[in-house]
Amino acid sequence: MRIKFNRMKNFTLLLFLFLSIKAFTQDYHVKLDYFLPDNISYNLNIPTPASVIGHEIGDWHITHDKLVQYMYVLAESSDRISIENRGKTFEGRPLLLLYISAPKNQSNLEQIRKNHVFLTENGSENMDVTKMPIVVYQGFSIHGNEPSGSNASLAVAYYLAAAQGPEIKKLLDETVILFDPSYNPDGLQRFAYWANINKSKNINPDPNDREYDEIWPGGRTNHYWFDMNRDWLPVQLPESQARINTFHNWYPNILTDHHEMGTNSTFFFQPGIPSRTNPLTPSKNQELTGAIGNYHAKALNKIGSFYYSKESFDDFYYGKGSTFPDINGGIGILFEQASSRGHAQESDNGILTFPFTIRNQFTAALSTLDAAVGMRNELLNYQKSFYANARKEAENSGVIVFGDEKDATKVNQLAKILKRHKIEYYELKSNFSKNGKNYKKGYSYVIPKNQKQHRLINAMFQKQTTFQDSLFYDVSAWTFPLAFNLDYEENESSNKQGKKASENKNISIPTNSNYAYLMEWNDYNTPKILNKILEKGLRAKVGLKPFKLENKNYDYGTILIPVQNQKLNKQELSSFINQLSRENNVLINGVSTGLTEGIDLGSSNFKLIEPQKVALIVGSGITPYDAGEVWHLFDQRYDMLISKLDTRDFNRTDLSKYTDIILPNSWGNALSKKGAEKLKKWVENGGTLIGYKNAGKWLNNNDILKIEFKSKKDSTQNISFEQKSNYFGAQVIGGAIFETNIDRSHPIAFGYKNNTLPVFRNSTIFMKPDKNSYNNPINYTENPLLSGYISNKNLLELKNTSMFKIGNLGRGKVIYFTDNTNFRAFWYGTNKLLMNAIFFGNAM
Ligand SMILES: [Zn+2]
Repeated sequence: MRIKFNRMKNFTLLLFLFLSIKAFTQDYHVKLDYFLPDNISYNLNIPTPASVIGHEIGDWHITHDKLVQYMYVLAESSDRISIENRGKTFEGRPLLLLYISAPKNQSNLEQIRKNHVFLTENGSENMDVTKMPIVVYQGFSIHGNEPSGSNASLAVAYYLAAAQGPEIKKLLDETVILFDPSYNPDGLQRFAYWANINKSKNINPDPNDREYDEIWPGGRTNHYWFDMNRDWLPVQLPESQARINTFHNWYPNILTDHHEMGTNSTFFFQPGIPSRTNPLTPSKNQELTGAIGNYHAKALNKIGSFYYSKESFDDFYYGKGSTFPDINGGIGILFEQASSRGHAQESDNGILTFPFTIRNQFTAALSTLDAAVGMRNELLNYQKSFYANARKEAENSGVIVFGDEKDATKVNQLAKILKRHKIEYYELKSNFSKNGKNYKKGYSYVIPKNQKQHRLINAMFQKQTTFQDSLFYDVSAWTFPLAFNLDYEENESSNKQGKKASENKNISIPTNSNYAYLMEWNDYNTPKILNKILEKGLRAKVGLKPFKLENKNYDYGTILIPVQNQKLNKQELSSFINQLSRENNVLINGVSTGLTEGIDLGSSNFKLIEPQKVALIVGSGITPYDAGEVWHLFDQRYDMLISKLDTRDFNRTDLSKYTDIILPNSWGNALSKKGAEKLKKWVENGGTLIGYKNAGKWLNNNDILKIEFKSKKDSTQNISFEQKSNYFGAQVIGGAIFETNIDRSHPIAFGYKNNTLPVFRNSTIFMKPDKNSYNNPINYTENPLLSGYISNKNLLELKNTSMFKIGNLGRGKVIYFTDNTNFRAFWYGTNKLLMNAIFFGNAM
């Protein structure tokens, strides 16, 4: 059956181009056939998108709920489609996956999956791929305000369900499509709301219109304002967890990631800039990416659309969707379409309509499938050889041991990431010490490098400090044990390997006490416990010095909970403490005496900790990622209330009830002069203000905290016009890992057992150290580079500078970090710095 289309077919190429250009400039409202290829008939029993969502594709921005509705209707009406809900977003939206393939494959899907995964296993060397379907993962709009992808997914899914003829039959017979219509449901919904509420009946392409100027924080990110296209490797967010689970369940040969870029550009498909490919990616991967690109070029030529490749974007950081598959035997493809943002916008290429952007995405989605069919044997064989070669590389390799003898939680959190990536890990056979670090059973794990995910393990654990290129689209380092601040040894003998690691390790529960409970401050979960104790109205103190009691050493920052004179009686307190200890897997000791070797429990070196009431400045001007990371840390990790104060209302907000206010990095002027005066007054009255990154300049300019920055002197006398952008690009620190020395006796460093701490840095803010070394508890070392790219010039600037500063103002404190301690939710190692600032700011 055919749907009657109103456009005539079979024009000459010239006329066809003319029509395309016409469509480009005028068609605000189009019918479904605008997107679909010519000369194809469609099954009339398959509902069109408009018949379900109530409007043609592109008339309105699809909301996620309507997208879900259509996908379920399609799955219901087509025997080519089955559907799965894999979980939910932070806002409770379903994380759908459609399995699209021929009906005969649908009934045999699990067997197809098993055979496919076997290609990655030992023993598959002689396996014949010629009869096997290829697996393609197609995903859309991971940045919610780059909506043409998800809007195109409606047309793509319709086409795959309804198209008739030999071509689609071959495609469905030979392909299993894992179809993810919205990588970022919460962001898509947020953006659709904005674009739709601002749409006029007469579409207005004036870029100044409100429709094209989304309010803060925008729809790019997820609920906690994370860029989800950086989380494919750390897998900290629920959306990524569902997606990565599907990925490792199937090992797709191609994975696509449909994005948008600036309005004046055209269309980009990978390969990206060749010199910016991660060296762990086989060169064959880039060859195949180029060959797939030929299919996109051909399809875009046909509809008259302009495009480019190789001149921008890279394939370096494996935490991005289009790069992650490259270290897993597949090919990741990035698409970038010029964005209309709203429904149509003036651009260098004429008026860019929303339907036009959708059609390019649709076209690239179909050319991806064409490539999959055309290159099926080649891609399946590539996958097979990728894993066979990895197995060869892995032969005779030893094991990695990682651990922290005082923090089981962090160790377990890294183990969870390994598990999500199907990396096998084991318990430690027996305790050992090396390089001054103690590896203890229950606080360490062992990863044999000789396993299937050998290359992925390398990608997660290796440190890299030399590079072919000096420009990076994103971070240049993410070494996991450094981000987690764990002790680790990379080349140990496999006799350290114990039995397969079990899920949960319960630390022994505390004994009861008539006197006091003591909790060392090392475990990642201790701030959560302390906050629960304070919330309950209980008294707790922090020990400013180490001591020894009942044969146990207690380090700086040990928390003391007296039994006497508390809101809870002895038994109630005991059961409450026991419950906290159990739930959080943290040791809390009941003790029977206050007499110690060192400070006694009644000493004035135990300082009372007040309950904290924390606020976070958010809203226009503030960098949403940095603010969202703090919000997520408090809300999801520590179950602590945090009040989000919007910059818009800041001058009218009563600050007196807050003990701490956090001012994240900003993009512009977040707070006015009046706001500065107000914050200053609040600090003078006893508040603790905590600023990050460029907030330091603002604190300095407003006389809230005196900070000396190093001024950068650039010599650009021998730089040509063409070299200019590369020269300045090379001076950017896109994100690398550096070593600091920490003064463990300073309350900002409580809970850290080592004298050095790896920190993440993606700025060129260099703070001069104070002349009194006791005021510099966190300083970059003499040779600070641990992993990642930094120019030699910047490295010289960075060494021996300070990362932290604290000052007094009236009765309050001002604390400043040059660097982000909460980066992307996987920098577990530095989260405690912020918690120390919150709980112990008064003791500094
Ligand atoms: Zn994007």
